[in-house]
Amino acid sequence: MNITQAQIGRILTRTCGYLGTVCSHSLQPYRGCAYGNSLCGVGCYAQHIWWVTHGEPWGSFVESRDNAAEAYAREYASERRWAQAKFGKFGIFLSSSTEPFQPLEQKLHITQRVLEAMVERPPDVLIVQSHSHHIADCVDVYAQLTGRCELRLQLSIESDRDELPGLPRSASTVEKRLAAAAAMKSAGLRVTITVAPLLPIDNPERFFSRLSEVADAVIIDHYIDGDGSCNGSRTKRTPLPQAMAAVDPASVTLEYRQRIAQIARQHFPGRVGINAWGFAGDFRE
Ligand code: SF4
Repeated sequence: MNITQAQIGRILTRTCGYLGTVCSHSLQPYRGCAYGNSLCGVGCYAQHIWWVTHGEPWGSFVESRDNAAEAYAREYASERRWAQAKFGKFGIFLSSSTEPFQPLEQKLHITQRVLEAMVERPPDVLIVQSHSHHIADCVDVYAQLTGRCELRLQLSIESDRDELPGLPRSASTVEKRLAAAAAMKSAGLRVTITVAPLLPIDNPERFFSRLSEVADAVIIDHYIDGDGSCNGSRTKRTPLPQAMAAVDPASVTLEYRQRIAQIARQHFPGRVGINAWGFAGDFRE
């Protein structure tokens, strides 16, 4: 793993495309991801973005942005003004092309310091998006942010399986992520599970029943119309669809998402979001 440190000029990125329908800005405390060689890294869309990878293999590098909190404080007033004028809300997605709670965070606490800076200078909406059970490490800061902004804690659990045939295992096990969700919920925080991208689920009834014990809502995102490309073409270039089909051929169709969403709605009535609508906080059926 090639680990580097950087002082970043700007940390708030104005969103466009798919993410632009969700919030006004994204914020990446790191560039690259140490989870890149695990299961979620196989279909990870960030591996296809040159300004993220600079041509390096996904999962082989992480750049820490050591001054992320200071940069946020510096940009806050002008970016908030711009976002509120254009969208009515200053919303931040933390993070869209890296994992904010990847292993380096336990040593450097860059994401944590950004969150602490947000207590002083809150956005209108903050979406914390993670694949790691370490999302629960910042429960105390989330408690301070609650009430100061609309806080959405989104933890990805794409399946009840930790592996698919021929692919690497999850870096953060399903059990650890369920425990993290439970810890946040028991601290009084609202938790959403993002089943994204939806993978084959062995026992959907049991899976959503367990999720309903530790979360308030779910978002289900299938790669075919949820990976930001036409018909999921970006994901189709990876080994993910083949591995999914080997477990359940139906899982590479949108009908599969329909079936899974129906089961999810039995456990989360009125609280199941689909694809970009769900990420935008719209849970209409
Ligand atoms: S944790 Fe997120 S950014 Fe990292 S490889 Fe997985 S999906 Fe990509």
